Amino acid sequence: MTDCIFCKIIAGDIPSYTIYEDDDVLAFLDITQTTKGHTLLIPKKHADNLLEMPADDVSVLFSKVPALAKQLTEKLGATGLNLLQNNTEIAGQSVFHTHIHLIPRYAKNDDFA
Ligand code: ADP
Repeated sequence: MTDCIFCKIIAGDIPSYTIYEDDDVLAFLDITQTTKGHTLLIPKKHADNLLEMPADDVSVLFSKVPALAKQLTEKLGATGLNLLQNNTEIAGQSVFHTHIHLIPRYAKNDDFA
């Protein structure tokens, strides 16, 4: 049994709000909504971080970003979006399963309105 919290989310053992899913990846709302719609995109195959992944798997993961970014910004009325991707503790990673943050940004100073 894995101790990885994101593997448990993939397995359905921990609840999450799914934004997108296919055979390779899962996207779900971050529990800490930095802004409305803050989403995490993860590979279904466990890797501690990007540095541990084969290039092909990194390519598959990042290939999902454009459509997801478009979907998030259009549906939520965001006017911009940050991508954030932390690798290892020294770089700010706190969950050790590769993930990309997609953080919608809004024109007004009211991200939660
Ligand atoms: P940081 O915690 O500094 O943002 P990471 O880049 O490793 O570091 O991000 C891990 C993210 O996982 C955090 O934004 C955190 O809110 C999120 N998170 C942790 N547990 C859950 C969970 N059960 N469901 C959704 N998101 C989670």
